[in-house]
Parts: sequence; C-alpha cells; structure tokens
Amino acid sequence: MKIKCNVLDRQFQMYQSEYEEAALRVLRSGWYVLGNEVLQFEKEFAQFTGRNYCVGLNSGLDALILSVRALGIGEGDEVIVQANTYIATVLGITENGAVPVFVEPDEYFNMDAGRIEQAVTNRTKAIMVTHLYGQASDMDAITAIAENYHLALIEDCAQSHGAHFGGKMTGTFGISGCFSFYPTKNLGAFGDAGAIVTDDAAFADTIRMMRNYGSRVRYHNEIEGVNSRLDEMQAALLRVKLGHMQALNDERKTLAKRYAEGITNPQILLPGLREGAESIYHQYVVRCANRESLQKMLEQSGIQTQIHYPIPPHLAKCYAHLGHKKGDYPVAETYADEVLSLPLYTGMTFAEQDYVIGQLNAWRA
Ligand SMILES: *Cc1c(COP(=O)(O)O)cnc(C)c1O
Repeated sequence: MKIKCNVLDRQFQMYQSEYEEAALRVLRSGWYVLGNEVLQFEKEFAQFTGRNYCVGLNSGLDALILSVRALGIGEGDEVIVQANTYIATVLGITENGAVPVFVEPDEYFNMDAGRIEQAVTNRTKAIMVTHLYGQASDMDAITAIAENYHLALIEDCAQSHGAHFGGKMTGTFGISGCFSFYPTKNLGAFGDAGAIVTDDAAFADTIRMMRNYGSRVRYHNEIEGVNSRLDEMQAALLRVKLGHMQALNDERKTLAKRYAEGITNPQILLPGLREGAESIYHQYVVRCANRESLQKMLEQSGIQTQIHYPIPPHLAKCYAHLGHKKGDYPVAETYADEVLSLPLYTGMTFAEQDYVIGQLNAWRA
C-alpha cells in the first residue's frame, strides 16, 4: 500500500459541488481582489473564532509580520518565541528588525510557560506563542505572564484553527490571532491566504490599511503599507471549507484517537494532551530515538512521513548572525532529532491507517 503524508484532493472531492459553485460565482462576478467574498469570509471567520474583527491577508507569515509591525515593535525590541516553532513565526519578528528570544518547548511541544519569565528583559515587548501541531498552548499561564509584564500577546494559529484552551478558542487570548490558510492547514485554501483576528478596532484598522499599501482611501497613503490582499477566489473557497470545519476537525481527532489506541510499540512515544487543552491534530507527531531507521522502514513500506522540523530556528543558517550554537536549547534540539509526523489527512481510510499502525508495531530498532 502507498500512503502519502498528506493528501489534499480528497477534501476537495468531499465538497466538490460546493467548491465548484463558489469558484464559478467568483469567475463570473467580474471582481477578483478584496470584494464581497472577502468581506463575507472575514465576517464568518470572526464569528467562528468569536472575535469582533477579522482582516484577510495574503499569508500566515504576513499576519505575523504585520501584527508585530502594527504594535510598533521593531529595532532594539525583543519578542519571546518558542525554540521549536516553524521558521515563519521567527520571521514575523526579525522581518521587523526585532530580536527573537527563544524559550524551550514543554512536553506537549508548546512553549514552556515555566521558562518564560527568565527570558523577559526590559527590552521585551511581546510573547509570540505558536499552538504547534494543532494543540492549544498553556494559555492560563502564558496570558497571566503577558499581563504581569505588560507584554503584547500574539498567537500563531497557523496550525490551530478551532482548537480551544479552557473552552476559549486559540486566537482569542492575545491582541492578535494570526492564521494561515495554506492548502495543507486544517482550514486550507487552494493557494496562499491568511488572516488576523482581533477585538481591537484600532489594531484591525491599522492591519487593514497596511495590507493595501497603507491606504484607507485609494491613493491616500497614510502609512508605508504592503500588498497583502486576500483574493475573492480564495475567500469564496475558504467560506465553503469553513462551513465544514467542525466535521473536518472531528475526523482528524478520530484518526488521532485511532493512532493513540493502535500504536503499541514501546519505542515510539505518542503525543500527550495537556489538561484543559484541545488539539485539532494538524500533525500527529510521535517521537522516536531511532527516527532515521523508523522513517526508512516506513518509506520502504510505501509510507511517507515528514519531520516538523529538522532544524530549530536558532540553528538555521539564516540566523547564524544571532550567535546561537548547538546545545543552547537542548529540548528543542532533541525534538528536532526525534519527531516524526505520521500520515493524517482528510479522507484517510481506516484501512490506510491500520496499515501504518501495523508497520509501526512490527518495527524494532
Ligand atoms: C504555515 C505556518 C506559518 C506560515 O503560514 P504561511 O501561510 O505559509 O505564510 C506560520 N507559522 C506556522 C506555525 C505555520 O505552520
């Protein structure tokens, strides 16, 4: 059996007629960027998250970059970020000239709240928290620290559409919830797209200006903006998928539960779930001390897996100038050496999954 790590066309086929109808509606409308579909999607996504405002953007990275910029964070400022996140979270900081200060992850792959306070200095302006692999971070503790030290809280929700902590949705704890709708995300478009959600009217207004060359009124450029507009096609297709979000996330939870119950190999460490936290299983990430050999065996059995992520940002070549070295963040580095993302996608059949589980259980290092 051949199993890919991620399959995108099955979710298209599931709702094919709705997608096609939405696409045709846009093609025939004569209006293709920032129009009624974007407006409606923004309204519906704000409602989905329970926030007052949503601003559609070009990508998740733009949501992060513009959030930091709109808060006035730049040169000389520090932003706290977890050491095992995707490079985009860190780029959101460094694209503004600010300095990322890394904090080790906890046993759930999220920011270790117990290590944040020792990273705070008098230059710290914000905490950027990523709800990695779909699981909500320790938001009671993190929100309390942000309030105590008067730090802005920015959430990277690129992997956590719809995941809650203590009954509250990720993206609603800080001033800005940053979302990516890249095709592989739980709420994925058919191209690049992103958004921020917020309850702060002035913040939303600034982001809205920034995304369209810094203007509210065309050709009246109040600030130096960018082009980060969301197009009508992506917005219309996202509206279709958003309507099925609960079912799509539930399906992933069912698949995750089957992995948790099915994998019994003691050499493979299963992901845990924090008390009070929900995961929408953007990735199902196991740990294995002999990952290379496990991955190779799976590959030979026709099972594709991925590593999220093999090099932690502090050791990335592009950040050599920050002066970090191997050993600075040992937990993040261990995860980089041991994590393996198993196949999990919309439309994955139990037969496909059972084949993966069987191979995992038969393997010995
Ligand atoms: C995907 C992702 C991003 C970036 O989103 P893009 O839409 O690809 O720019 C940021 N942070 C995390 C954690 C992601 O997984």
